[in-house]
Amino acid sequence: MRSISIFGATGSVGEQTVDLLRRAGGAGAFRVVALTGGRNVARLAEIARELQAEVAVCADPDGLVELRERLAESGVAVAAGPEAIAEAADRPADWVMSAIVGAAGLVPGLRVLRHGATLALANKESLVTAGPLLMAEAAAHGARILPVDSEHSAIFQALVGEDIAAVERIVLTASGGALRDWPLEALAAARVEDALAHPNWAMGQRITIDSASMFNKALEVIETREFFGVEPDQIEVIIHPESLIHSMVGYRDGAIMAHLGAPDMRHSIGYALNWPKRADLPVARLDLARIASLTFRAPDLARYPALRLARDVMARRGLSGAAFNAAKEVALDQFLAGRLGFMRMAELVERTLAALDPELGGSNLLNGLEDVLAMDHLARVRAVETARRMAGDA
Ligand code: NDP
Repeated sequence: MRSISIFGATGSVGEQTVDLLRRAGGAGAFRVVALTGGRNVARLAEIARELQAEVAVCADPDGLVELRERLAESGVAVAAGPEAIAEAADRPADWVMSAIVGAAGLVPGLRVLRHGATLALANKESLVTAGPLLMAEAAAHGARILPVDSEHSAIFQALVGEDIAAVERIVLTASGGALRDWPLEALAAARVEDALAHPNWAMGQRITIDSASMFNKALEVIETREFFGVEPDQIEVIIHPESLIHSMVGYRDGAIMAHLGAPDMRHSIGYALNWPKRADLPVARLDLARIASLTFRAPDLARYPALRLARDVMARRGLSGAAFNAAKEVALDQFLAGRLGFMRMAELVERTLAALDPELGGSNLLNGLEDVLAMDHLARVRAVETARRMAGDA
């Protein structure tokens, strides 16, 4: 029986993974090793009971008592706190979903790779923060990383049977997010609820706002570079408002392989779950005659400064990905708290990167985990300081 763990089981990607496991037979068809959540202890306990997990872990240490009560006499062991999540990653499983949001997904992902598992990677932040470390850890232990981000799953599928050396360019599609049709001058006043109204995808709160600012696409550009090993100038971004083409690979002979499908994460999660086979998935089928047309437009960098910052990060490498991601997470927290305007998130990230410049290291530096975590911490401290100064300026 295949053994499975889900990190971030209570989130949007986690729940959709649970849905696919349930449809494929649930507890009777899989041995579920570890399920983790953050603060939603009630939901974590429900899923753990349903799937008869060996252990359920919540990131929030204050959740332990409630988790224990809710799972009393269920046979599910319980634990809490970040170290307990990392320990859950040490429990061997054949297939592990990495769907924690943010840099908190990095350490568990690395520890999963150490026992040679297949890591289905939704947590793009870990590749942005420590791509070379993650790829080296997978290679050292014969582990496999399968992309779950819909764009990267699309690219991965468009590369099947092809030689990466024949790739000329990779075209990442972007919906443009909730504010794509707002006038540029109105964006400064966008509120959280405006940025959350995504036109095509139902996702977690943080990634939805990152879609509106295109910080999500910026992370994905860096993720593409780290995962597929292509050069930064081979990666393009195009706005495709319908979100039906999930990304494309252009080859040296001029051919472009595009991956189309309904905007439903269960496709790319299911692809990673069933890889290298394909299985029936409960996703809508495209009616191309009804869709009739697909449209594209170039992204305006004045509207999406995050894309320009991603280019800087790729040129610099070293610890700049760790600093970029951490500063972006702080900027988002500040926006969510109403302390920073929508367009000032990119300004905060840029100012934080500039302040850290001497400490970001050179290109191609393969940093140890401690350096990465130290930079993650430092960048958060600097970003909070910068945010305070920016609030003073305003
Ligand atoms: P959600 O916010 O919906 O879920 C995040 C999960 O992580 C939840 O289980 C949450 O627990 C848990 N969590 C939050 N903080 C911590 C922490 N500090 N330590 C441990 N666990 C924590 O996110 P999504 O599912 O939207 O996204 C997950 C990842 O997948 C992200 O990296 C995102 O970029 C990526 N992704 C998501 C897509 C989507 O469609 N949603 C598409 C492509 C990629 P709880 O809810 O219990 O607090």
